[in-house]
This record gives sequence, structure tokens and C-alpha cells, in this order.
Amino acid sequence: MSFAVIGVAVTVLPGGLGPAVVGTVNGHRCSLPEGSLNVTDLPAGRSVMACEAVGRVVSFGGAGLTVPEPGMGVSVDGLAVSGGPEHFQLEVSADGFITYPGQYETRKAVESATSLKSSDPNACADAAYSIYDYVERDAYVWHIGDGGMPGALSRSAAQIAFLDAINNITDSYNDCGLTDDVSVSQRYSGTTSYEGDYARGSLTCTERDKVSTWDAGDLNSNVLAGACVWYAIVDGVPADVIEADVRYNTADFDFTNNPRRETCKNKYDMRAVGTHEAGHIFGLAHVSDGHSDLTMYTNSFICNAKARTLGKGDVLGLRRKY
Ligand SMILES: [Zn+2]
Repeated sequence: MSFAVIGVAVTVLPGGLGPAVVGTVNGHRCSLPEGSLNVTDLPAGRSVMACEAVGRVVSFGGAGLTVPEPGMGVSVDGLAVSGGPEHFQLEVSADGFITYPGQYETRKAVESATSLKSSDPNACADAAYSIYDYVERDAYVWHIGDGGMPGALSRSAAQIAFLDAINNITDSYNDCGLTDDVSVSQRYSGTTSYEGDYARGSLTCTERDKVSTWDAGDLNSNVLAGACVWYAIVDGVPADVIEADVRYNTADFDFTNNPRRETCKNKYDMRAVGTHEAGHIFGLAHVSDGHSDLTMYTNSFICNAKARTLGKGDVLGLRRKY
């Protein structure tokens, strides 16, 4: 990795003063504790070079991110079944300074809803949306990873379900009569021996492997599925998604491809969950409590396929971005 060379390089100070000690870059001094870091260990404004922070994990709430190289950002979202959703995002500017865009300072616990709330607006009447500042400019090219699939599906059956879920976003699929006005697309690119870049048992994005992968595994026990999205920061325009990995938590939850069946019990619809995760890939964020009929609501519901079909706010969010 080329950046590692920069990260440990001995810096020559201006004026020929000679090599500085490692841990000081352009006057920024930093020393980090061992092990997992939190946001107070590595506050916004720190130099990842001075702190030798690239490759280190920073945690917030129930989520973690591995600090990427300069010019990159990474965002993680967890779809919860109880308690608040997890979101955490960090960026490293081209000159190496860390920032935490968006929500972590203002993150609020949302009321946990285990079923659609009848007091909330109907999906076609609810214009709420929230968006990130990254976009998927090119087709989202993705693979199916190693190992088991949600719903114990074969990889080929899972491919069809994932493809359908992502298409729900790229086609603005809705039953509100809203036209598909956004030109985003996807392309399935085969199976891979790579896995989604998640730490075992945790909603923590590891270093990216440059292959966008959908797979199944173990996440935090309250998180149904996660989306790790990496993007390149581009001057003057929204950041550009370069990789996105979706993982279903099959260690703690059961999924189904047939949620409407009478026999469905305690299972989550893999296409509804996948549609929500694909929303994150194309830059949609969660909507707050009170919008439980929208795909980008923070929780998913047992044996419920509703989130496969976008609501008004979901479509408006995509139109706003693309
Ligand atoms: Zn989510």
C-alpha cells in the first residue's frame, strides 16, 4: 500500500532543520493509544500522518471504521431491529486531516418500532428523506461473496434477490405513480472469493479490498444488515463511491425470500433489507422516527416486504441526488 510509506516517512522540516521525530508532521504532534480508538482519541482536525492513523479502527456507538488513506471517506450504516440505527462516517482530506461528516455529533436515539406504525404517514404521502454527500456516478458493480447466503439461498438464487433489491433503487420502484427520473445503474459481476470487508461479529468496516461484495456473516447482535461505503473525495463535486459491501447478519437473524407466506415467522425479507442497503450505496441516509412506511426508515419489520417498494421520500431523495 503506497500510503504506508508516507505514513511512516521521516519528515524534513522547512529550513533544513533535519528529520522530525515520527509522530510529528508539519508541526502536528500526535500519539494514539493502543487498540481500538474512539472519536475523542482521534478528533476532527488531526493529521492521519502525524497520528499514523491510517489502518487504525475508530469506533462510535456500535459501529467502527478503519481510517482510509488521504482523499478517501468511509461510511457505515447498520439496520437495527431494536434501539437506534448505527451510522458512522469519517473522511480524510487529500492533505491528511480527519473529519467526521454529518451525524455523529447530533445522533439521536430513535424510538424503536417493531412494526409499521399506523400513525405514521403512508409511504406515498411521506416526502421525508435524508441524503449523504457521496454519489454512485458510474454503474454500481458488485459481486456475491464466499460462504452462505441469507435465507439459505443458493448463490444463484441470492443473485436474483440482490439484483432485484438493487434495481428497486436504480429503477425508483414505487407504487405511488412516481416516474423513474434518475439515471443510476448497477451491474452484477459474478461470484468472488473475497468477503465483505467487516470485522468478525461487528459492524466495523475493515480496510477495503476493492471488490464490492454482498454476503452474509456475523454483525452486532441488534444489527440486521450493514452497508460499508467507501468514496473518493473530489474537489468541487460530491464524493464518488468506489466500493460498497453489504452484509446480512445471518448469525443472529433468519431471512426469507418469501416474507408474504403464511408460514413466515420471525424472518426478515432479504429483498426489503437489500433495497434499504442499496439505498445507502446510492447515497440515501436514514429518515427519523415517524417515517416507518419509507424504505429508508431505520428499522426493518418481521415478515414484511414493504421496504421493497420505495415511498415518496425515498424517490425524492434519489431525484435530489441524481
Ligand atoms: Zn440503514
